Amino acid sequence: MQIKRLKLSGFKSFVDPTELRIEPGLTGIVGPNGCGKSNLLEAIRWVMGESSAKSMRGAGMEDVIFAGTSTRPQRDFAEVSLLTVQEQGELFNAVEVGADGELEVTRRIERGAGSAYRANGRDVRAKDVSLIFADAATGPHSPALVSQGRIAAVIAARPQERRAMLEEAAGISGLHVRRKDAEQK
Ligand code: ATP
Ligand code: MG
Repeated sequence: MQIKRLKLSGFKSFVDPTELRIEPGLTGIVGPNGCGKSNLLEAIRWVMGESSAKSMRGAGMEDVIFAGTSTRPQRDFAEVSLLTVQEQGELFNAVEVGADGELEVTRRIERGAGSAYRANGRDVRAKDVSLIFADAATGPHSPALVSQGRIAAVIAARPQERRAMLEEAAGISGLHVRRKDAEQK
């Protein structure tokens, strides 16, 4: 799975619709302190299904919605879309992927109404989104997404937490999601 484009609107400091194209090769994002670099990485984790507000540096999930400034009012919703292209042979049972292999996942949160997800325009469940990314050996807890302060956290982690990181890295966390699902049936 490759990420091609990230779109944000009303997410944290990105109040106006913003589009970030990610071309093949290495992409660097530079800017002064507080300009929103970490917010971009958090947007990627959020659209992949992050459910911990704390790991989004907020007290509640609605804290990802633009909170307003002295000159601009707060927004009522935040929306993030991640356009990915699938490698051949990556199959997802939850959604249809077009012939071009493109899959766009969107998450939207409204004040008082919680989060909703779409995949290629169709409403899907949070669980479908978590399977899409788990099957591609990525997701909000992927060790490929290294947030600020994360290195220190890995060093200080308990063995159980480190095991979860290794399972993400080995690409087997999708199996856990499916096992939980099967146990509920
Ligand atoms: P550094 O170089 O210090 O790591 P950074 O570029 O990573 O900085 P971020 O942490 O991504 O910066 O951005 C922080 C900014 O985002 C702060 O100015 C903060 O006020 C703003 N911000 C965070 N959440 C919201 C929100 N809900 N509404 C408006 N602004 C927000
Ligand atoms: Mg930062």
